[in-house]
Amino acid sequence: MHAHRAALLHCLADPREVGIEHSYQYFEDGLLLVEDGKIAQIGDAASLLPILPAGVKMTEHRDALIVPGFVDTHIHYPQVDVIASYGTQLLEWLETYTFPAEARFADPEHARAQARFFLAELLRNGTTTALVFATVHPQSVDAFFAEASRLDLRMIAGKVLMDRNAPDDLRDDAASGYDESKTLIERWHGKGRLHYAVTPRFAPTSTPEQLELAGRLLREYPGLYLHTHLSENRAEIEWVKELFPERQHYLDVYDHHRLLGARSVFAHGIHLCDDECRRLGASGSAVAFCPTSNLFLGSGLFDLARLEGHGVRVGLGTDVGGGTSFSQLQSLNEAYKVLQLQGQQLDPFKALYLATLGGARALYLDEHIGNLQPGKDADFVVLDYKATPLLARRLEQARSLKEKLFALMILGDDRAVKETFAAGRSVHRRDRPQP
Ligand SMILES: [Zn+2]
Repeated sequence: MHAHRAALLHCLADPREVGIEHSYQYFEDGLLLVEDGKIAQIGDAASLLPILPAGVKMTEHRDALIVPGFVDTHIHYPQVDVIASYGTQLLEWLETYTFPAEARFADPEHARAQARFFLAELLRNGTTTALVFATVHPQSVDAFFAEASRLDLRMIAGKVLMDRNAPDDLRDDAASGYDESKTLIERWHGKGRLHYAVTPRFAPTSTPEQLELAGRLLREYPGLYLHTHLSENRAEIEWVKELFPERQHYLDVYDHHRLLGARSVFAHGIHLCDDECRRLGASGSAVAFCPTSNLFLGSGLFDLARLEGHGVRVGLGTDVGGGTSFSQLQSLNEAYKVLQLQGQQLDPFKALYLATLGGARALYLDEHIGNLQPGKDADFVVLDYKATPLLARRLEQARSLKEKLFALMILGDDRAVKETFAAGRSVHRRDRPQP
């Protein structure tokens, strides 16, 4: 057993459902007990210290706030090298930057090195669970899961399905995409803390036959995810209309092939009609809100209030490399501004919820992760109140927890992450050199 002493903050419920004041738990001088990779207990140091069993190791984290590990509900591991690429919107971005970068993952050695860097970067930013696009190459998935498994992380990923409107070296076909996915599912799904996501890139790059087989996979293996893109960019939506004239709208393409439901996650969902919102909500599907990407690619403004009004589960995504930061604190900074532009205010506790328990609920993983309740995976992050001179100075002026949390999400990034724990083990420490 290991005890961590620090200020502790985690969400218990969606502030939208229970009100802000009942949505979180905070211990100014708290104790977090970890045993066998799980949270054993959480509470005030004053009440837990006297009853600690003898011989428990104790780490004191000064000037620090422990929060649950961040959850990233949409990111591409093969796009690390094209982050911060200039001058395009979605469709040209894919052609110019993304597809050439993804073609390199045919080489397993390249995939292995990229997976290693990518996961280290996630952990450096305090993200302990992510829903991840690989490439069309099965070896890209093997490389990713092998590295995630070595670190014992809770991760979800899958091979991209793409059998049309893509370069030759990035295309599968309906049958090979199905067969290769099946092999990967049997190899990785449910192994340790790994989960598999059936991953058609988006409607324009899959034939109806391929989408039909994606739906079949979901029915053949329980607990699989469906991970794709939806209604990100106006030119993309027009293209979907041309390719699928018989379908009512963009979401109807996926719905027709029975791809909606619990564990189906659609990235973006910016330009949706009421019927699309309604079907997303009714089916238990989730949408990943990716503010840094939506601004960077000029895609549009995500309407959180509208989606939640339809009962849609919403998680937060970085969408790196279209997104510009691995940091969920920076995603929240941009989310706040996206919502400001629409007259909505993102309360700091709601923001924390989106980056942790809300993401876990969007992924139907809240029985395992998302907060620090006893029994859950011990995935958590130590945030440093003194990470930068500016942050330290601003926090000295803060009179409430809410004010502190808000300053952390506006000014914080990877520099604010002092240490990251996964299954109770330290997997990143800022002052420890990377292996
Ligand atoms: Zn994406």
